[in-house]
Amino acid sequence: MKSIEDLQVAGRRVLVRSDLNVPLETGVGGGAGSRADAAPADSSAGAVITDDGRIRASAPVIAKLAERGARVVVCAHLGRPKGASYAERATEALSLRPVAHRLGELLGRPVRFAGDVVGDQATGAAGELAGGDVLMIENLRFEPAETSRDDAERAAFAGQLAALADRYVGDGFGAVHRKHASVYDVPKRLPHAAGDLVLAELAVLRRLTTNPDRPYVVVLGGAKPSDKLAVIGSLLDRADRLLIGGGMSYTFLKAQGYEVGHSLLEADQISQVRSVLAEADRRGVEVVLPVDIVAATGFAADAEHEVVPATAIPADREGLDMGPQTRRLFAEKLADAKTVFWNGPAGVFEFPAFAAGTRALAEAISRVAGFTVVGGGDSAAAVRSFGLSPDAFSHISTGGGASLEFLEGRELPGLTALETS
Ligand code: ADP
Ligand code: MG
Repeated sequence: MKSIEDLQVAGRRVLVRSDLNVPLETGVGGGAGSRADAAPADSSAGAVITDDGRIRASAPVIAKLAERGARVVVCAHLGRPKGASYAERATEALSLRPVAHRLGELLGRPVRFAGDVVGDQATGAAGELAGGDVLMIENLRFEPAETSRDDAERAAFAGQLAALADRYVGDGFGAVHRKHASVYDVPKRLPHAAGDLVLAELAVLRRLTTNPDRPYVVVLGGAKPSDKLAVIGSLLDRADRLLIGGGMSYTFLKAQGYEVGHSLLEADQISQVRSVLAEADRRGVEVVLPVDIVAATGFAADAEHEVVPATAIPADREGLDMGPQTRRLFAEKLADAKTVFWNGPAGVFEFPAFAAGTRALAEAISRVAGFTVVGGGDSAAAVRSFGLSPDAFSHISTGGGASLEFLEGRELPGLTALETS
């Protein structure tokens, strides 16, 4: 796989596919990323970026290319626009304009913005770029063809995107598991390289999958086991210990025969969870579940709550965080780790009253002397919201679902496209 250093870029138009899918709070409804729906609806003063981590992570490659005299065209997606046509999808609420503005602030150089993806504005602006200029085009997913399953439809759109540039840099690791036009089809049409973020992610994921130092502790949380059972399955091969917290732990508790009240539950995953637990047992992987739960009267920031044993969650309560005993237990189980992979918050950390479990977990991992990796958009956002220094972890992944699919051992279309010359 080539890096940007292998690419001649001076004076050339370089299309950079970044992952800029940041959470927004918007007054117009909807929004992207994590729980924008739970955020207070503001006035209509436009979208506010609540966590710019992905923009910060993407900025260095863009800066490097611009400094080498490239005419940089940045493309990315934001949220999940709905509708069959560009007109239906192109809503102000999911415009990349505020992201372009923020990128400009971070780069310390102006970032131009085109109000369409491959229309007159984008083609016009891309043509006018001088060496060192940076342009961002509008949300790729305003174009239905970007995510189309129809190869021909995607290819036609990829042709239009490729026409904006002479080179392609794939730097959006968070999207490499998608067979989308900007990820999979464009690199086939232009000389290409992997950006620094993609290369860094790959190096970390390879270290997690090839001879990790032991003990290797995997901590999983977040909302749904269905997102993560496959990765658990493949990590059972390698991990010594598996700590399960967050919303997914209730399906595990239920699978062990306990009632979980109104807690998040994926009833259709219970049998899958049971086989994962049996498999862990066979392989001698220690599985650690919460022993106490912060049980609330409802899903709200100000819901009344109390700590209850994980085996006795009242029928009218829902678990929104792990309790203090579990925080200590998880910290103990992490203390001797030489490798840690953590994905998924241990509670609804977006509500301050239910953030203590995730905070304790993040702090415990930050104290581990070995190789520590935080994966998942919400987990990374949690770390930042606690004010923990990123330096306290070996790596904070921007990968999300893509990292999980890599750890599952699946082929990622965007990586395949970058590997193929
Ligand atoms: P990541 O983005 O790090 O992979 P996920 O997207 O899987 O994490 O899950 C993050 C979400 O899980 C957060 O928005 C958090 O509020 C939610 N969550 C965690 N614990 C619970 C819980 N007990 N009940 C409901 N939701 C939860
Ligand atoms: Mg998430």
